[in-house]
Amino acid sequence: MKYGTLKNYIGGEWVASTSSELLDVHNPATDEVIARVPLSTPDEVNRAVAAAKEAFQEWRETPAVVRARYMFRLKALMEEHFEDLARTVTTEHGKILDEARGEVRRAIENVEVAAGIPSLMMGYNAEDVAAGIDEECVLQPVGVFCCIAPFNFPAMVPFWFMPYAIACGNTYIVKPSEVCPISQNRIFELLDEAEFPPGVINLVNGAKGVVDALLAHPDVAGVSFVGSTPVGKYIYATAAANGKRAQCQAGAKNALVVMPDAALDSTVAAILTSAFGTAGQRCLAGALVLAVGDIYEPLKARLVEAAARIKVGDGLDESVQMGPVVSRRALERVLGYIEKGLQEGAALLLDGRQVQVAGNPNGYFIGPTIFDRVRPEMTIAQDEIFGPVLGIIPVADFDEALAIIEAIPYGNAASLFTSSGKWAREFKYRVRCGNIGINIGIAAPIATFPFAGMKQSFFGDLHGQGRDAIQFFTDRKVVITRWF
Ligand code: NAD
Repeated sequence: MKYGTLKNYIGGEWVASTSSELLDVHNPATDEVIARVPLSTPDEVNRAVAAAKEAFQEWRETPAVVRARYMFRLKALMEEHFEDLARTVTTEHGKILDEARGEVRRAIENVEVAAGIPSLMMGYNAEDVAAGIDEECVLQPVGVFCCIAPFNFPAMVPFWFMPYAIACGNTYIVKPSEVCPISQNRIFELLDEAEFPPGVINLVNGAKGVVDALLAHPDVAGVSFVGSTPVGKYIYATAAANGKRAQCQAGAKNALVVMPDAALDSTVAAILTSAFGTAGQRCLAGALVLAVGDIYEPLKARLVEAAARIKVGDGLDESVQMGPVVSRRALERVLGYIEKGLQEGAALLLDGRQVQVAGNPNGYFIGPTIFDRVRPEMTIAQDEIFGPVLGIIPVADFDEALAIIEAIPYGNAASLFTSSGKWAREFKYRVRCGNIGINIGIAAPIATFPFAGMKQSFFGDLHGQGRDAIQFFTDRKVVITRWF
């Protein structure tokens, strides 16, 4: 077993969990067991919270410029181990190496932005708000925060939150996905090497039991969640009921609208990357193509022809363009949706079910799959499939496309492909989705912008990354002063 039994990192020490419950972690390209992850006990959660609470006072008094220097150290270590981190992501998740490199790069970018904390955390003031009275607003850290992460970006997602939280002077607990826990484990080895004071950052492996213990703990001030919508709703409601702040980024069903005046070559390339990159397991993945008017026939033909040529295999092989899905369970879920699409009468233009990968007979592979003549009320147009399945819906005009997007319960992302500024303006103005692409297939905000989301894709008000993160991880205190 390449990575052994994973440990927790609590109070600056690696500690073995005492839990008797362990899950196998598989390499999805081979089915091989590569690690075991403990489902840690509530007592282990309590110890992590206690360590984080104890570290808080001294850490918040550490000057922001000094806290920023830890970010520089962390960045240097992540750069030094960049390739190893990317290979770890591919090995546990399955995405191809280039996608894993992109993920690690975005994680580092968040560290870079958080290193600007001395200016990001500055407050503001006004003189003479009344005669001889001045007023100032200062930003202060709050306490212990935690992150509950999904499987699909195992290195990056905690970095939408953790660097900002600790740069602001809070202390932190990461609960990685039990499906892909290894990347955070590797990153915590680097955090350890960066010599953060004990208790400032902690890692507790586990699943629902750990989440519930964190949500119930009176010393946890807030939670950042990324994952599916039902779990996001539950965490948002439970955190609020327990008086915690919460930001919950959730599921998605993203539409890509193609106008008749779109540049066909680049549009086809962008749609393929959006729908089939990371085998469709991205919350920004394009799941539905809404083909407007005359573009429908040529677009459909080009998409099928190009998708059929995508090379599927082990993501560690640099010639491969699409890896497996993350687990056997995920594979079965995706196969179930393909069956459902057929039952509901959609036309299967490209069938990924029979894909064979030489040398990897046990991997969780499924090839690019394209359904045509999808109708908005079909299950495959409504549910988040989270696999390499793209549905094409022919539509008469722009307004019909917008009405379909409006009826989708999710609001994570939407893209428009056009050469018209007027349509682009209408789209970004009217569509109720958080991340909008104009001639962009994956509208992923860089670290200085919030990772947005609306409707059933987000519960809360402040998002991950950038200025939103600084607001989420601080309290505003207003001081009104008069001197006699
Ligand atoms: P998931 O909801 O199954 O799990 C996410 C986290 O919640 C994990 O850490 C898991 O241990 C925990 N969890 C699961 N069930 C729980 C329960 N009943 N109670 C408490 N905690 C529980 O999600 P996943 O399968 O790991 O990730 C895929 C999902 O994440 C997709 O829906 C995808 O769209 C979404 N996602 C959203 C964004 C975004 O920014 N909106 C980004 C990435 C992924």
